[in-house]
Amino acid sequence: MARPRVNAAGGLPAIAYVMRKAWGTGEFSDTLKRLKSKNTCKTCALGMGGQNGGMVNEVGHFPEVCKKSVQAQAADMQPAIPESYFRAHDLTALRRLSSAQAENLGRLGFPIALRPGADRFERVTWDEALRVGGDALRTTQPDRTFWYASGRSGNESAFLMQLISRAYGSPNIHNCSFYCHNASTVALTDIYGSGTASTTLDDLSKADLVIVAGANPASNHPRLVTQLITLRRRGGKVIVVNPLSELGLRRFRLPSDARSLAAGSQVSDLYLQPRIGGDIALFTALLALVDWDEGFVAEHTSGAEPLREFLADVDLSGLDESSGVPLAQIRQAAALVSQARRGIFMWSMGLTHHEHGTDNIRALGNLALARGFLGRPGAGLMPIRGHSNVQGVGSMGVSPTLKAAFAQELEQRYGITAQPSGQDTFASMQAALAGDVDVAVLVGGNLWGSNPDSAWASQALQNIGTTVSLTTKLNPGHFHGNGRTAVILPVLARDEEQQATTQESMFNYVRLSEGGQPSVEGELRSETDVLASLAAGALGSDRFDWNALRSHAGLRAGIAAVVPGYEAIDRIAADGEFQVSGRTFHEPHFATEDGRARFHVVDVPPAPDGFRLMTIRSEGQFNTVVYDEEDLYRGNGRRDVVMLNAVDAALLGLREGDRVEVSSAVGTMRVHAAIVDIARHAVAMYYPEANVLVDARLDPESKTPAFKSVPVEVRKV
Ligand code: SF4
Repeated sequence: MARPRVNAAGGLPAIAYVMRKAWGTGEFSDTLKRLKSKNTCKTCALGMGGQNGGMVNEVGHFPEVCKKSVQAQAADMQPAIPESYFRAHDLTALRRLSSAQAENLGRLGFPIALRPGADRFERVTWDEALRVGGDALRTTQPDRTFWYASGRSGNESAFLMQLISRAYGSPNIHNCSFYCHNASTVALTDIYGSGTASTTLDDLSKADLVIVAGANPASNHPRLVTQLITLRRRGGKVIVVNPLSELGLRRFRLPSDARSLAAGSQVSDLYLQPRIGGDIALFTALLALVDWDEGFVAEHTSGAEPLREFLADVDLSGLDESSGVPLAQIRQAAALVSQARRGIFMWSMGLTHHEHGTDNIRALGNLALARGFLGRPGAGLMPIRGHSNVQGVGSMGVSPTLKAAFAQELEQRYGITAQPSGQDTFASMQAALAGDVDVAVLVGGNLWGSNPDSAWASQALQNIGTTVSLTTKLNPGHFHGNGRTAVILPVLARDEEQQATTQESMFNYVRLSEGGQPSVEGELRSETDVLASLAAGALGSDRFDWNALRSHAGLRAGIAAVVPGYEAIDRIAADGEFQVSGRTFHEPHFATEDGRARFHVVDVPPAPDGFRLMTIRSEGQFNTVVYDEEDLYRGNGRRDVVMLNAVDAALLGLREGDRVEVSSAVGTMRVHAAIVDIARHAVAMYYPEANVLVDARLDPESKTPAFKSVPVEVRKV
């Protein structure tokens, strides 16, 4: 059995790692200074830093720092890649680089381009790079372009990006959430009329129950575990729902807490391990068993009656079978949920990455509504969002569909005529494969690596005429997802910007990052400057006052006028950071037409046959970026493994380390067996490498691929 080298997550190894990484930059004091500077943490959307200073959360607690934030900071402080590297390495060599190797090349210090038919990238001037991008946009039709952003950009550049793509005439604009949390956005909008968390960070200090479903914050949002441990110390309860037993969700040593650091802290009271795809069955069984808050349901919800009729026909023993969780444990969980007075239900991609991802959230939402865990302090629904500003990028309108009020203001202020909805991310990929995309503007991220079916993704993106990428560092997406002409432009990280930028956390809290000095020498430019220059080349110098659109304060004035709930951003420098209005529900009045939250009847999908694969991340990686090959918390020294249950392994004649072939409808991988505590018939492999096995089945409502429910066959080789 794969055995972790530690008996609790976090603790001294995490502290040692942070120190090693900071030291490894060769600029220890500069690293610390940057980590403490008044900038938002570059990594996850839990959100730290901003005007309170780095390593401080929005309720003022210090120090809040984790491996991930230090990894990102250290990576940004690497020296620039020398020009000789591009002369010495052709595209074939670059395509052999792993994510970690690409990350460790260093910062991109000047624009590079790949010409049609050339075998390698070459250094180009900014003028040349922008001319190539501008010409490509000018010589095609807007509907033959798409515009994609990750959650790295600030609100200012995200707002500018959607502004120029719409002014240019393309509504094919989307962000990385289509491949992660769009199911949450769709479901929450159905439930209470707003697509983000209903809670603030402070609500976690008032809750007496948390359900963590389909998420592993110990690895992906480490400082969130502090909140869970604190809640348990107050007598609250934590229920985890995850097919895989995660060390960090059982025991964690908080580096910032002497007691926890010495002895370790228990993180969860009850750990449920459903089969992959068993969440709706589990939540439905809980819904049938918990005590409903009838007063809340009668006064503040709609749709309860059809749901009650549906539940009347539910067979609990059938649900225990379909969920994969023994009925006794479901009853235990139901008792904890019924005893709680204020509960917060949080989740991540373990719920969204399914063909029924939106329904997973609706089913969990039903449970919150039935208990009245909505519309009061200390209670609510909370998607655990990934990249530091992914939520802000969506708020800024980097989305193929705009709310009517947003579109109206855009028209009035900027003369942009409202357009019908454009392509989502997957639709743009399909269009690329069909040869219908001439230009893709890729602002940050790794679109190639985020896609299912890596061979399909390569084919689609390499079919594009020109890709224009804005990035701080190179990643495999630049080498596998390049257009026939590919331009890659180096930009400043947020703590290097000359003008302040803003970011929105998963709690709808907007931070101001003051920027700073570039940590490397090179021809780095601000993302807003690059986008304005690119657009001026395509739209003409008189379409906008481009210099005004390079002013972040000017952009914030535009955001205040256009983006609902963001009125305060215009005064953020003077009045301070703020909570986006209209999204946090501490009173039982919701953003639906009748002010009530809505129940939904959610059909229980049949239990799948055979093995299901979930792709997962390690504590040493952030999204597609892999910093460390070793997964300390799961005991895997390598990433080419398939994690499976001991009984399943025995039935397949497998022992720890044996060679295994895992195949799906779209790919095959030869890896090593790692025997772990995971639900029967569930197997886990590392993302993004295992994307070669992920077929392109989508949740029809959110268009999110089923990265965590892939039918696979497993055999010994
Ligand atoms: S938990 Fe997230 S926001 Fe907090 S320090 Fe770590 S990466 Fe940054």
